[in-house]
Amino acid sequence: MTCWSLPNIGQFVCHFESSLIAVALEKIRQQHAKSTQTKEVSHCDPYCQFEVFFFIKVKRVRDYEKD
Ligand SMILES: [Zn+2]
Repeated sequence: MTCWSLPNIGQFVCHFESSLIAVALEKIRQQHAKSTQTKEVSHCDPYCQFEVFFFIKVKRVRDYEKD
């Protein structure tokens, strides 16, 4: 982890890990994903935490008319 052995600097620094998680889950689920860091060791939290959002492809009205 990027924050390993860092003191409390009051900032989120695990951006690489966040994007790595999003890309790995994108490949596994074959769905576009976005990861956001919500807890950080170097930000007074006991561990680093990430939230991952998946984007769902929505059909447009025009696409339904073709069916
Ligand atoms: Zn971290």
